Amino acid sequence: MEEILKISQRELDDVIELGRRLIRTPTENPPGNYEELSPVIYSTMKEAGLEAHILKGDENKPNVVGIWYGSSSKGETLLLSGHMDVVESGDPKEWLYPPYAGEVKEDHLWGRGAADMKGAIACMICAVKLLRDRGWKPKFNLMIATTVDDEIAGKMGMKFLIEEGFSRAGLPRPSFHILGEATNLNLMVSFKGRTWIRIEVAGKSAHGGAPKEGINAIEKAIDIAISMRDLVKESELNPHPMLGPDTCNLGTIRGGTRVNVVPANCLMEYDIRMGPPNSAKMYINKVRDLLSRLSEERGIKISLFEVFEERDPVEVSPENEKVKTLSEIISKVTGRAPLLKGTLSAGDLYYTLKAGIPGVWFGPGEPSIIHKVNERVPLEHLRLATEVYMNIALTLCQTA
Ligand SMILES: [Zn+2]
Repeated sequence: MEEILKISQRELDDVIELGRRLIRTPTENPPGNYEELSPVIYSTMKEAGLEAHILKGDENKPNVVGIWYGSSSKGETLLLSGHMDVVESGDPKEWLYPPYAGEVKEDHLWGRGAADMKGAIACMICAVKLLRDRGWKPKFNLMIATTVDDEIAGKMGMKFLIEEGFSRAGLPRPSFHILGEATNLNLMVSFKGRTWIRIEVAGKSAHGGAPKEGINAIEKAIDIAISMRDLVKESELNPHPMLGPDTCNLGTIRGGTRVNVVPANCLMEYDIRMGPPNSAKMYINKVRDLLSRLSEERGIKISLFEVFEERDPVEVSPENEKVKTLSEIISKVTGRAPLLKGTLSAGDLYYTLKAGIPGVWFGPGEPSIIHKVNERVPLEHLRLATEVYMNIALTLCQTA
């Protein structure tokens, strides 16, 4: 690897200024409101010299994608990406600085989206501009995507781009993906999968004073809930090294109409999360088996079994050559080797990893402060992340 590129204070000021501008254009989701932010990103990408595209899978869902074509016809494409939407700010009175002012105070940029993830988007776009300022030209393609609807796990963001948006616009399929979610400048390489299951138990209504004449659906549901406690036991004995044990959470339970009536039905919703090699299907089958056993042994009647989310765990090998290269670059830029970690959900990276495209999370900001009041990103992280994005592009896209 050649020498590492650094940025000046004046160049960092441009990154901060772009971050402020993105924070000052709120995109709380729901509903998202991208009509103001997407033209800002589109024009900033063009100013950075990218060929910019608005890719919509649906009205009001404008993903913004910029590409710098490499000189080689060979199909390597580095994708840097971030989602444009943010979660709601909560009560502005609880913030030290207003959530949509983009204040720079105490060596941090403050506001909703500072770390999740408008700061990272600013770093990525500025990294491209700074490489161009230095006269660099890529041999392979460099692409930036800013997506819609990550915060609501929507289908019109990265899922749409990978499945049809890129190819419909004649854009290349990425060969490596860096998602700029906040990692405290570490690397996220392993991500839990999940399945959400709805189970309805049918009973038989009767007078509350004569419970034996009915079948109490809530009590039958409790029998199920007790058995479900053992669902992830094997994984607790043998947890994933980065992700820990699988988990099973009974998120909602609803049943009964009044105190003096035997409830005729009860609805439960489960969130089950798993690390590799376990899969969503494996747990769906486990739950099915458990329910059929309980209905056989105890006559429990299931009136509804519905899987409303199914997402397998995904990961990238730490031995992947591009992951190793990125890790070396982070060490050189920050002076510290990044930790390789795992987390509860892959976000937009799910769709690339699932499609067989290797990738990681790497971004500025502390993961523990996102989605909370007083979200902020250290200015130093903005500098270091910009330098990492510049240097990884320089290495993976090489010089023409
Ligand atoms: Zn995020």
